[in-house]
Amino acid sequence: MAEGTLKIHTENILPIIKKWLYSSKDIFLRELVSNAQDAIQKLMLLEEGASSFRIDITLDAEKKTLQISDNGIGMTADEVEKYIAQLAFSGAEEFLAAYKKDEEENPFIGHFGLGFYSAFMVSHSVEIQTLSYQENAKPVHWTSDGSSTYQIEEGSRTTRGTDILLHIQEEEFLEAAKIRELLTTYCRFLPVPIFFGEERINKEDPLWIKAAKDCTETDYINFYHSLYPLEPNPIFWIHINVEHPFHVKGILYFPKMSSEMRLQDAHIKLFSNRVYVTDECKDLFPHFLNVLRGAVDSFDLPLNVSRSTLQMDSTVKKLASHISKKIADRLTALYEEDREKYTAIWPEIQTIIKLGLLNDEKFYDRMQGSLLWKTTNDNWTTLASYQERNPSQKKVFYTMYETKESPFLSLYKEKGIEVLIAGGPLDSVLFNNIETKTELEFQRIDGGIDDLILDSDKQESELLDADGRTDSSKLASFVKENLSKSEVSVEAKALTSSNLPAFLMIDEKTRRLSEYFALTQKDLPKELLKKHTFVINTNNKLIATINQLKEKEPTLAKKLIEHIYDLSLLSQKEFQADNLSSFVERSNALVEELVSRSNA
Ligand code: ADP
Repeated sequence: MAEGTLKIHTENILPIIKKWLYSSKDIFLRELVSNAQDAIQKLMLLEEGASSFRIDITLDAEKKTLQISDNGIGMTADEVEKYIAQLAFSGAEEFLAAYKKDEEENPFIGHFGLGFYSAFMVSHSVEIQTLSYQENAKPVHWTSDGSSTYQIEEGSRTTRGTDILLHIQEEEFLEAAKIRELLTTYCRFLPVPIFFGEERINKEDPLWIKAAKDCTETDYINFYHSLYPLEPNPIFWIHINVEHPFHVKGILYFPKMSSEMRLQDAHIKLFSNRVYVTDECKDLFPHFLNVLRGAVDSFDLPLNVSRSTLQMDSTVKKLASHISKKIADRLTALYEEDREKYTAIWPEIQTIIKLGLLNDEKFYDRMQGSLLWKTTNDNWTTLASYQERNPSQKKVFYTMYETKESPFLSLYKEKGIEVLIAGGPLDSVLFNNIETKTELEFQRIDGGIDDLILDSDKQESELLDADGRTDSSKLASFVKENLSKSEVSVEAKALTSSNLPAFLMIDEKTRRLSEYFALTQKDLPKELLKKHTFVINTNNKLIATINQLKEKEPTLAKKLIEHIYDLSLLSQKEFQADNLSSFVERSNALVEELVSRSNA
């Protein structure tokens, strides 16, 4: 038996490896199975037609061992010396240098050619039994307890290949369920058959290696469920298959959105040549892609480097922008080719797309023409076709609530003006964004008194009294006095529809600002409140009645004014819950009074 010293400057690297990788001990199995697979693939290249390749994982809980066996290329004694003892530890130097730089980092160990040594994270000693494929090769037995010495002697293996025997010290890795879970997570898509005892672990090829034209809808849905067993069916998917400028394959899915979904969690699973690496790639891709599901496989990606390096990596950046381009291309193609399908999936994908538009300029440029909005005409429209149909070329009217019966909406409907229904959490930010890039101006229907909804005939025919004041302005002053809300100004206007007595106009810019304040949980500055205008409709019967009552029955007129004000707030969803009891009280009093009068 020969004895040697590991070629490394540091006396014992293992305590460092152990400490450093403490949180990801699990990866040892991935590293060893990948090595086994590499050994088999090397042999496949050398000996065409060779067959019956397999990797066997054997757990012996009594003896406390776990063995990873392959019938691959094997190693000669020289190779064991070179690849296991020396090469691995030259990687270790690089590893140490990186480690010293930033202890907090959590690189993937494989990058440094230390994959094999991850075995020592869970074992107190490791044995290798190997026989090289070369003619007349002798079997080799190598043993190490992870200190800087190892033993090498003639081995007992009689067939080509390698056994890595781990003497496990961590109890959890002696549980079959744990080993099965690790194998399934990391190795289920590897090409060489992997057996855990009798059980075959990798039963299927990953769908992403097939050509998109050979995949059916059922294939995609089944594959999705194999990755995310508890999720409902996905809405839409994109098959990626790129050769230049780098290799990347994968399938990205738009999941069914639910209210519990957290937009900041990442779900895409990264693979490196079919070996699972991580699903913690939230810093790698543009924010909006985090909502997507699926798998991305690339052996060009430096997946083994620390996450922060990965973030800086130009390949990763290119990959991310490529993925975002693919998504846009695929969706705009669908928009052109199958408008019906596009419209059908739109409600489910719109949040992700809008996030993308806000996050990524290029994505905005590619997708903005295919952005759909629901309108009060019960259809979906792009902004371009909305503009074609609607009289006010620059202005886009919108409402946050899909209440078809709102008297306020009917003002616009009667005039044949389509209103977008845009109550989503991102819509108002998106409007800001579109306004900075286009001529368009978005206005919530209660955000201004547009000429379109004013009755121009009546506006003109106002008569002036002796003080030079119109009837309307006198009514407005009366309402203002009786409403006793200093922050609300009052205007009397003749609206085209007589149905609506009044509404609260909240200046568009002020309201967006206040939404922003609400979002950031700050208090709205007082002066912003003052931008509210209570608009009373002089074409409405009730308002006309108040106008008549203002001299004869000022108390009743006051009550009616307050009541109409609260009703406007209610219908515009601006009513404050604290005011509810006084509102109910006043309503009751008002009804009582009116009933007793009509009986009198
Ligand atoms: P890496 O796989 O990153 O090169 P490892 O420490 O995992 O680093 O392995 C070092 C080398 O040892 C491998 O490159 C390979 O040459 C050799 N090796 C490891 N496991 C096996 C195996 N099962 N069969 C044949 N050679 C192996």
